[in-house]
Amino acid sequence: MAATKQKKIGILTSGGDAPGMNAAIRAIVRTAQYHNIKTIGIMRGYDGLLEGEIEELNSRSVSDIIHRGGTILYTARCEEMMTDDGRDRAAQVCKVLQLDALVVIGGDGSLRGAAELAKRGVNVIGIPGTIDLDMACTEYTIGFDTAVNSGMEAINKIRDTSTSHERCSIVEVMGRNAGHIALWCSVTGGAEEVMVPEMGPMDEDRIIQEILENRSKGKTHNLIVVAEGIGGSQHLAKSIEKITGIETRATILGHLQRGGSPSAVDRMHASMMGYLAVNAINEGAVNKVVVYRNGKHELIDLDEALAATREFDQSLYDMIKILAI
Ligand code: ADP
Repeated sequence: MAATKQKKIGILTSGGDAPGMNAAIRAIVRTAQYHNIKTIGIMRGYDGLLEGEIEELNSRSVSDIIHRGGTILYTARCEEMMTDDGRDRAAQVCKVLQLDALVVIGGDGSLRGAAELAKRGVNVIGIPGTIDLDMACTEYTIGFDTAVNSGMEAINKIRDTSTSHERCSIVEVMGRNAGHIALWCSVTGGAEEVMVPEMGPMDEDRIIQEILENRSKGKTHNLIVVAEGIGGSQHLAKSIEKITGIETRATILGHLQRGGSPSAVDRMHASMMGYLAVNAINEGAVNKVVVYRNGKHELIDLDEALAATREFDQSLYDMIKILAI
């Protein structure tokens, strides 16, 4: 009787890095070892796949990484994957490597890349990894909690100095197309105003009016959060200072929010998602994404995941305004 062929999976991280990606890699490699599945780490996302930059991973290769931010596999944005020729070549590499599945950890763009490979006969399993939480198919994406905590801690510190100097502080947080980080940082940092891409461009006059009203109600300092996608924090600071005479400082947190040791929440989601992905591969799953919905993790079809849409929920914004009274 012929022995069953040992399964082999590839893992790559793609797009923006997110704290917790390493915990997911660790969970994938160790669950695979448990099922006697071979694991290949593909470096630098789709770039490394096209270049055949691979490294065999075993349980020991992922020792001591659960607490580390970033990704040991490195990550990249790959222009070539945006062309049919690049996608064909990437699919061909997966075939040459004889991968039974390619696990892609990344955001919406990375999963769209995975879908192109799926169209070309590669079995792909997606794991949502992005600090932005901007994937409609899932209520959680790896990295969000750590990014919000980093933003909140920075705001705490800025608040101390803002209060002492009776200043107006503007904090610009990550989030190019989505305001989830900004909204969560505002609620948890106690900001009085937040501007997010979903709610349209900044209205400086309205913000200045609001600051003056809040001062007349007895507030001695102001804290405003701006999402990266809105931008213009330095300009806003200058306008506020010029029109109101209130000393105003803008701080752009930038990549500070991408790094750092992943929070317990991120490690938990990442471990569970990695574990479930490999269990599903072991059972023969084809073209799926691990998502978190209604309080539990599950696998859904890749097509369904990419077709998902989500309406912007304004309730957090409404609460921020009331809690700023
Ligand atoms: P994220 O995965 O964090 O959303 P990007 O949107 O930058 O980040 O996507 C990461 C990479 O995924 C891109 O650099 C590209 O290589 C690949 N990608 C994105 N969209 C597509 C697409 N439509 N087809 C093929 N590959 C894509």
